[in-house]
Amino acid sequence: MDPVNHTPAYDLLVRGGRLVDGRQVTHADLAVLDGRIAAVLDPGTRAEARETVDARGLYVLPGLIDSHVHFRTPGLTGKEEWANGSRAAVAGAVTTVIDMPNTRPATFTPADAHAKHALIEGNSLVDYRFHAGVNPDDVSLLEDFTPREATSAKAFLTGHHTAPHVLRDPARLDGLFRLAAAKNLRLLFHAEDDDVFALLDQWQGEPPSYRSYEAHRPRSGGIVAVAKLIELARRHGTDVHVLHVSSKEEADLLAAAGAAGIPITFEVTGHHLSFTTDDTLRLGPRIRLSPAIREQADQDRLWQAVIRGEVACVGSDHAPHALTDKALPAPDAPPGLPGVQELFPALLTGLRRRLPGGDAEQALKIAVRVMAEGPARLFGLEGRKGALTEGHDADLALVSADTNWWLRADEAQAKVGWSAYEGWTFTGRVEQTLRRGRSVYARRADGTAVFGRPDGRWLEAHTPVLAGVDR
Ligand SMILES: [Zn+2]
Repeated sequence: MDPVNHTPAYDLLVRGGRLVDGRQVTHADLAVLDGRIAAVLDPGTRAEARETVDARGLYVLPGLIDSHVHFRTPGLTGKEEWANGSRAAVAGAVTTVIDMPNTRPATFTPADAHAKHALIEGNSLVDYRFHAGVNPDDVSLLEDFTPREATSAKAFLTGHHTAPHVLRDPARLDGLFRLAAAKNLRLLFHAEDDDVFALLDQWQGEPPSYRSYEAHRPRSGGIVAVAKLIELARRHGTDVHVLHVSSKEEADLLAAAGAAGIPITFEVTGHHLSFTTDDTLRLGPRIRLSPAIREQADQDRLWQAVIRGEVACVGSDHAPHALTDKALPAPDAPPGLPGVQELFPALLTGLRRRLPGGDAEQALKIAVRVMAEGPARLFGLEGRKGALTEGHDADLALVSADTNWWLRADEAQAKVGWSAYEGWTFTGRVEQTLRRGRSVYARRADGTAVFGRPDGRWLEAHTPVLAGVDR
């Protein structure tokens, strides 16, 4: 019992697992000290630690980064609380989130970001950063942001119930591109063209049912907006990231622009990869989304973009609404669903169905590229998050790749308590999640969850590096 004579070298050892990065899977042990990966060891290397996690039979992934969540703090906490959102995240292997600015008030100034952080501190199982919001009445507010508060800013080119701040003025949009290029801010877009939708609304009125929603928010809105953004990125050299791409035409345009060296990247979401218009009959308002859910051929193209590495990242767009709100008549039902918990299992399951032979390790490698390495590179977290190498934070997800399971409503951690994926059979399950060397989520044998301490931190970012996906 003499602590002086027996101080172990490490806090934690993770033994017997297979470590996954974007290129390879390696048998190795991990040693953790002070919340960071201190060493990657040959399996069975002699070492002492206060604690050991047995990862035999499991894959060990870097804790995932979801760069597109709406955890609804401040002001919209009837829809989600940060505590619930972060529980959903760690249950889905996510240890870092980047939260969107369309809250009440919105995150339009550095002071807004600091106020938001003050509400979150002490309630978060995940580490976090924020995207700044673009105020359409005064884009110059972004001038005041430093990398402490944000290295990225989101603008909406069309709006909806929880996105009232739409940037419609072409001169201001041009000014935003100039300002962002000068400040090295990455611009994120909800890229659907508001004029296209206004024209269609005048012509055909409001959607009479959920089934007809896609016809009222068609792909033409996305294609027009994406074409404009490509031209602006080319002209100004501003780093642009297009969110939740939904159609094959947009994916083609963006892949072509990226290949031509234009500094534009894109994201696809779990729900556009998981649902098609066929599902709207069954799920109705639950999968009313903005952009809308599209056809099978679109979904196939989005999967291809994930597998080929054309997408920079896959995000959840976790944006919960109460079921009572979702069940309002079609024009009033707000778009959005909870998804941060389901994103990684849905990605893994979909990849295994589409890869030759259902290759588990290939699927895991792709998941690490689009949910760890990609977002870390885009949002200034490289060297700290998204990889299992020495010096990185010891954010780890332990995954049993071949376990089949289904999601019960009572396992959904979002405050709203429902999931569009209820009853889905997933292949691959998150068994445990650690953040900075501490367990933040562990799944008991009976399926119940044990969560850790909500001491997640507001992360510093490096100034973002050059745009583009490694090809
Ligand atoms: Zn969103």
